[in-house]
Amino acid sequence: MSDYRMETTCVQGGYTPGSGEPRQIPIVQSTTFKYATSEDMGKLFDLEASGYFYSRLQNPTCDYVAAKITALEGGTAGMLTSSGQAANFFALFNICSCGDHIVSSSSIYGGTFNLISVTMAKMGIAVTFVSPDCTAEELDAAFRPNTRAVFGETIANPALTVLDIEKFAAAAHSHGVPLIIDNTFATPVNCRPFEWGADIVTHSTTKYMDGHGAAVGGALVDSGKFDWMAHADKFPGLCTPDESYHGITYAEKFGLEGAFITKCTAQLMRDFGCTQSPQSAFYLNLGLESLHVRMARHCENGQAVAEFLAAHPEVERVSYCGLPGDKYYALAQKYLPKGSCGVVSFELKGGREAAGIFMSKLKLAAIETHVADARTCCLNPASSTHRQMTDEQLAAAGVPAGLVRMSCGLESKEDLIEDIRQALEAV
Ligand SMILES: *Cc1c(COP(=O)(O)O)cnc(C)c1O
Repeated sequence: MSDYRMETTCVQGGYTPGSGEPRQIPIVQSTTFKYATSEDMGKLFDLEASGYFYSRLQNPTCDYVAAKITALEGGTAGMLTSSGQAANFFALFNICSCGDHIVSSSSIYGGTFNLISVTMAKMGIAVTFVSPDCTAEELDAAFRPNTRAVFGETIANPALTVLDIEKFAAAAHSHGVPLIIDNTFATPVNCRPFEWGADIVTHSTTKYMDGHGAAVGGALVDSGKFDWMAHADKFPGLCTPDESYHGITYAEKFGLEGAFITKCTAQLMRDFGCTQSPQSAFYLNLGLESLHVRMARHCENGQAVAEFLAAHPEVERVSYCGLPGDKYYALAQKYLPKGSCGVVSFELKGGREAAGIFMSKLKLAAIETHVADARTCCLNPASSTHRQMTDEQLAAAGVPAGLVRMSCGLESKEDLIEDIRQALEAV
């Protein structure tokens, strides 16, 4: 499938049925797989043969969908996980262990920020956060001898900053470590981070890839470009024998293309079991089949809503990288020429109270913590996710009390704008 264009891969990638086989991907609802001899099965355990033995590690339905996402990103190997959180944890923990260090953009999803700064810190993995807008010198200064990975988001949730992927990739590579990019908001339809130097891509498939608010999930994809053996001292897990897997050295046995994902499946999925169910993978695939069509509409609606808001007297400020005045407009033109996403954030002049009235008057946009759904939804962080903070603390954190994050769905943009207009009139 790799020779086809994005649109074709969205629809048909990952699974090619033979004659008489199901047209739609089969849901292999089985925890286990039978073998004729113990010897046959033993080969699977030794990673001498490929095949399925237990769905905690691998399942055919999940693998079809992982293969589609891998093709969309232009990678060499990929896997699904139970959630986006699991995908980011696996991506980092597959190459970092106690005593290591990560450099991360500070503008990332709150759940990932917590994962890295609190939970992974308890595992002895340190982090230095850098502004996504830092200079090359500031970025360089964040590295330590024990740094093992650099992390960032193409379009950050919820700040909507756009990452200069090439700048982060150059810094990572000059220190002999990979760049991991969470590409959830852009999706491969709007940006393929591997083309700009990223080495590993992660997704919360819960968002646009699923797109219908149906199933929580995640994915990891390897570009197959990072040369682990060239930095073997930094990555002993990939470059020295794994005693828990009969002394296999992943980078030797599976090469650049396969080492990262094979290790991640064989060790992390085996031990943590954050697997996606075949049923969820099936729903995810339904979403992927229309991803290219939906992303264009999400972007069209996001752009129209952002332009309307930017011209409205009740609105103090709009963040959307598709607006020419936006701080990230130039980076978006470079990395996201087809559009960014449907999420727009804006600040109402009347602060928290105005945001509350505005949101209560909306008829189409539901108040939810979700984003990237077919149905428009919105959130006022000050009265929900950031509720414990004072107005002064909120302003300092870059989340003013009157901030509304709106995820534009697939409805008519005229109807969305009408809805916003009438709700703003009530403020
Ligand atoms: C939602 C989200 C996550 C976490 O994904 P879950 O599927 O909710 O675990 C990670 N990264 C980004 C950018 C997200 O938007």
